[in-house]
Amino acid sequence: FLDPNYIRDRIRTVPDWPEPGVQFRDITPLLQDPRSFRVLIELFVYRYMNQRLDLVAGIDARGFIVGSVIAHELNLGFVPVRKKGKLPYDTIAEHYALEYGSSTVEMHADAVRPGQRVVLVDDLVATGGTMLAGMKLLQRLGANVVEAAAVIDLPQLGGSKAIRDSGLNLYTVCE
Ligand code: 5GP
Repeated sequence: FLDPNYIRDRIRTVPDWPEPGVQFRDITPLLQDPRSFRVLIELFVYRYMNQRLDLVAGIDARGFIVGSVIAHELNLGFVPVRKKGKLPYDTIAEHYALEYGSSTVEMHADAVRPGQRVVLVDDLVATGGTMLAGMKLLQRLGANVVEAAAVIDLPQLGGSKAIRDSGLNLYTVCE
């Protein structure tokens, strides 16, 4: 019984966090409940089980929680897309603009081999900048980015449209 409403109902909206005017969509109640956590993972697993994937890439930090479990369930490897300065070995980096300021994500230079089929996972798409930066890292390593996937889309912020306009498939569980 894989109902996306079951997921949406367990996402908490926290007003004015991390700053006034922001409505933060908090997935911790969803993860805390074993049934909704399982339903969430199974939505992704059924979507990707016949896609002949090689790897799941997850974005720091909530994309690690969801992405690593999906990878494990599908018997795939997991690679982290991390915030700047966290990875110990040779890295490649992508700098991108945020609503206020900018950020950098990094991957290990040997995280993906050319031609490997990868799904990129995060918890939420807002402006899409984080997901697009992760996609660029994967593509620079020669990956075949089959799809980007997130639990939540905030369509008013335009990120899901920007991702799809870039030519990347995007799957989100709820809006
Ligand atoms: P974007 O780059 O699409 O503007 O922002 C998405 C990134 O910011 C994701 O990595 C996501 O984890 C984080 N993020 C931004 N707003 C929220 C929010 O309301 N809830 C959660 N859980 N993450 C958010």
